Amino acid sequence: MASEFDLIDRYFKRAAPPGMLGVGDDCALFGVPAGMQVATSTDLLIEGRHFFPDVDPRALGHKALAVNVSDLAAMGARPIGCLLGLALPEAREPWLAAFAQGFHAMADQAGCPLIGGDTTGNPGALAISVTVFGAVRPEAALRRDGARVGDDIWVSGTLGDADIAYRLLGGHMPADEALLARTRTALEWPQPRYTLGPALAGVAHAAIDISDGLLQDLGHILKASGVGARLALDAMPVSTALADLPPARVRHAVLAGGDVYELCFTAPPDRADAVRRIGAECGVAVSRIGVVDAGGQLVVLDADGTPLRDLPRGFDHFRSS
Ligand code: ADP
Ligand code: MG
Repeated sequence: MASEFDLIDRYFKRAAPPGMLGVGDDCALFGVPAGMQVATSTDLLIEGRHFFPDVDPRALGHKALAVNVSDLAAMGARPIGCLLGLALPEAREPWLAAFAQGFHAMADQAGCPLIGGDTTGNPGALAISVTVFGAVRPEAALRRDGARVGDDIWVSGTLGDADIAYRLLGGHMPADEALLARTRTALEWPQPRYTLGPALAGVAHAAIDISDGLLQDLGHILKASGVGARLALDAMPVSTALADLPPARVRHAVLAGGDVYELCFTAPPDRADAVRRIGAECGVAVSRIGVVDAGGQLVVLDADGTPLRDLPRGFDHFRSS
């Protein structure tokens, strides 16, 4: 069997970009442009908890990095590079090759090269830890505490698909091959908004990426900023893949469905045209879904202007129910 070093050389070592030191030494080295700070974030993915054991390894490699790049985007930071920690139950080379292919493709696409990591055998479940580094001007960083009363609330892309695919794959919805085919890409191949996020830095006031559900994640912005919000249900960008589903199911997927990796952000109303222009330049749809207000509540209005009751919440690992 190949040694740990052979595996690293074969699957993870790549030439580092100019000015950086990548895989192969005790540490990686990189700099940040003057006036910028390092933005860094890490995410841990455990088999059976964050992904299905039989998931396509190429998709898993993609997603392991994509969800981290999404955090950089939500901070308004441009990717610099990433680290990968792997605890492998067994070194199956075809699996590793496919995983690495998906990972490096995402790294190349986002300009976030793999510059180091750690690899270990582990008889338990597969665990993947990815750490990303990015650069952002501190005064323009899209922090969660930046929302102001009167801001518009925006969301990129469409909502709901990933939740439906997750339910179909987990057997929580009656099997529907056609619906799964329409929604599965959203769950397994999320596209982090690494161009949109940095473009919004200095324009938007606050941002978050939707990993646990729109209401829950927007709730983090509202809490950190000490504000409330009113959202319009009929302004939500719903994927056309969900057109045939019952409205209650769609509503739940859109408001509470996780694994979306779209950006939810707030911006002053006089920057609405700038936001639309940035969306168009980045090739990402942006929808205005509500406004920030001074109340401490998060209210969703239906098409008649009536507040929805019993709002669904998003995904929370530590909730008992
Ligand atoms: P150390 O003993 O100093 O921790 P390692 O033998 O663990 O070094 O790693 C050797 C080199 O390979 C280091 O540069 C490390 O960053 C890199 N590396 C190890 N595992 C990975 C991985 N999964 N992805 C990318 N780089 C890795
Ligand atoms: Mg090591």
